Amino acid sequence: LLIDLNAVAANYRVLKDQMSGKACGACVKANCYGLGMEEIAPVLAREGCEDFFVSFLEGGIKLRAVLPEACIHVFTGLAGGKPQDFVEHNLIPGLNSLAEINAWSQFCHKTNTSHPVNVHIHSGMPRTGTPPDEVKAILDDPSLLGDLNLELVISHLACADDANHPMNAEQLNYFNGTQRKIAAKRASLANSSGIFLGSDYHFDTGRPGAAIYGLNPTPNKPSPMAQVVRLQGKILQIRCVDTPQSVGYGATHRTSEPGRIATVGVGYADGYLRSLSSNTNRKAMAHIGDVPVPVVGRVSMDMITLDVSRVPEHQCRPGMPVDLIGPHHDADALAQEAGTIGYEIKTSLGGRHTAYLPGRKRLKEETS
Ligand SMILES: *Cc1c(COP(=O)(O)O)cnc(C)c1O
Repeated sequence: LLIDLNAVAANYRVLKDQMSGKACGACVKANCYGLGMEEIAPVLAREGCEDFFVSFLEGGIKLRAVLPEACIHVFTGLAGGKPQDFVEHNLIPGLNSLAEINAWSQFCHKTNTSHPVNVHIHSGMPRTGTPPDEVKAILDDPSLLGDLNLELVISHLACADDANHPMNAEQLNYFNGTQRKIAAKRASLANSSGIFLGSDYHFDTGRPGAAIYGLNPTPNKPSPMAQVVRLQGKILQIRCVDTPQSVGYGATHRTSEPGRIATVGVGYADGYLRSLSSNTNRKAMAHIGDVPVPVVGRVSMDMITLDVSRVPEHQCRPGMPVDLIGPHHDADALAQEAGTIGYEIKTSLGGRHTAYLPGRKRLKEETS
């Protein structure tokens, strides 16, 4: 697994340009979508990113050790930690209900402190975020916010990856009306795809994640992002088959004509999802050079089998690399074959071999 840190930096610059003069934060949750927070977050900071968003207290503490100066926001505030934890590590918790707002107010009174906090409101995606009836109570009686030191008011779009979805305008409308009346220093609505919905969605800072890591924030249009991830496997063996025979667990694939099958040392333990196993309707594609080679049979833990009959023999020998995610086939394309989204592909990778470019510094290597 090669992770191109220059591509990360380039993607951040594209997003920042898109924000037309507004700030652009970065969502670095789940260990930077599985790709490695310790390596990636400093690259973003060097590009001028000041606001970093994680889901949980633990991620915030880990990031604080990497970036002593950054503004670190934790989406799930008091659900995952006590107020003192956030103060101690200088993290900004997201308050997701009136009850959490009250709890924080009491903490501030008791300790006579005013550590900054964010208020999340749900504007149409009831996952986290203060619900509309509680938001209405706050708007009716602003004293419910006490004298909180409010940094950001945040909401999250449910359908930003579909530019024509009516939910986008509905959420924008609601957020616009409410954020004005909540006296936070700044407001933030847009994830990666939200940034591409236009400047109405930008507010004071963006919170892109996926696009930084190379996923396409504008599905059905060419991707404005550079590819960050390359996943290669090594050919372990080539088998020539001249009589019909089955391939892999469950004998789900049968060769029908003479050809060659390559066994490659990558499997679901590396995040090459088992749902990429071949079936009668579809075969996932790998590439040798620019020749597409289909996965045949089931994906096993450490290995897959590819039909390489079309590749000239001299380009396809034991020890040679195969691209599983690469220039001809990005994580979004692989995700489609697996019946999932690029986000799940990315966060599944990186379990074993990871190297970072430039530098080819090998940071993690477990082979057995
Ligand atoms: C994950 C997340 C983001 C980033 O979303 P992407 O689609 O990866 O850009 C932003 N805000 C919240 C609240 C999130 O949970």
